[in-house]
Amino acid sequence: MMERPPPAAGRQAGQEPPAALAVPAGLTDHFGRRHTDLRVSVTDRCNLRCTYCMPAETVFRDREELLSFEEITRVVTVAAAEGIRTVRLTGGEPLMRRHLDRLVRLLVAVPGIEEVAATTNGLLLAEQAELLAEAGLARLNVSLDAVREEAFERLARRPGLDRVLAGLAAAREAGFKQIRINAVSMRGLSEREIVPLAEFCRRERFQLRFIEFMPLDAEGSWDKEQVLSGAAVRALLQREIGPLEPVPSVDPGQPAVDWRWRDGGGRVGFIDPVSNPFCDRCDRLRLTADGQFRNCLFSTTEWDVRRFLREGHSDAAIARTLHECVAAKRAAHGIGSAGFERPARAMYEIGG
Ligand code: SAM
Ligand code: SF4
Repeated sequence: MMERPPPAAGRQAGQEPPAALAVPAGLTDHFGRRHTDLRVSVTDRCNLRCTYCMPAETVFRDREELLSFEEITRVVTVAAAEGIRTVRLTGGEPLMRRHLDRLVRLLVAVPGIEEVAATTNGLLLAEQAELLAEAGLARLNVSLDAVREEAFERLARRPGLDRVLAGLAAAREAGFKQIRINAVSMRGLSEREIVPLAEFCRRERFQLRFIEFMPLDAEGSWDKEQVLSGAAVRALLQREIGPLEPVPSVDPGQPAVDWRWRDGGGRVGFIDPVSNPFCDRCDRLRLTADGQFRNCLFSTTEWDVRRFLREGHSDAAIARTLHECVAAKRAAHGIGSAGFERPARAMYEIGG
């Protein structure tokens, strides 16, 4: 058996990883979790200001801080050689990055990459869905918390529901299948939106998934009391709409637990990172828009790969950094435990 590198702290500026570090086969951590999925944030900018993610006002990173498409492609090429198979583009709002379809074309051509997907708020989808489909984007997740304009605006702090709905229609038209709608559930904020949203998804045959509110808001005001659990959402849906039954899971790496409407109205998924953490099955790594590897949404350490890219280091050095990042992954995020420490970045600066 190959020796695994010891857990490492984040790399200091300018330091090359030690060449002697043994590289394990595949990106497997100390808990036996093999990492095959890379979430790539392409920007911290966004055209919404969702209360659970961003502050009302913010200053974005300078453009030169963001990795170029060529830099991202190089990192993904190295990561694919180490075992990454799927890439999901995110942000901020990924469709705000100009010519995103060009990046998709570059990434689908990377040897070893089997799927490139994206998570978007949908505002710019009507303009870009066809381009993205042609470029080879395989899947779309669209975030939508409410189908009433007043509620949409209250949650997103900006208007735009009609544009998201037009974007969803355009995505279908462009040939995207199994479009997922992701909704964050928050006590006191989104309860009233859950039933209309579920009815909309049943009618339109979108796969709906509810995500529990995590301590990644920009204001740092997350409170456990605000978490509306997946179980509570399910109870509400069953009371107001009808019976749901669990669907056996086929993909153990999938954080969502799927249920289906007994009357044939499709599926509803629940991602419960707070009430039912799935850390033991996590297969994800992250690359932030400014070129930092992270091994968890809640990681408080980052591995600076941008410096390596811009200072002319080798692919092997990038690969070793990725392995160090994996080796340092903790068993679980620890939300709710005494030692839990929030990351310094909010969700829009990490990439959800
Ligand atoms: N802008 C795109 C979007 O909204 O789909 C992509 C980036 S966004 C950060 C990715 C996902 O993170 C969205 O589905 C969003 O609802 C979710 N998210 C943001 N902040 C969250 C939080 N504090 N807790 C749970 N999910 C959150
Ligand atoms: Fe923007 Fe997505 Fe965050 Fe909403 S959840 S503010 S759309 S990055």
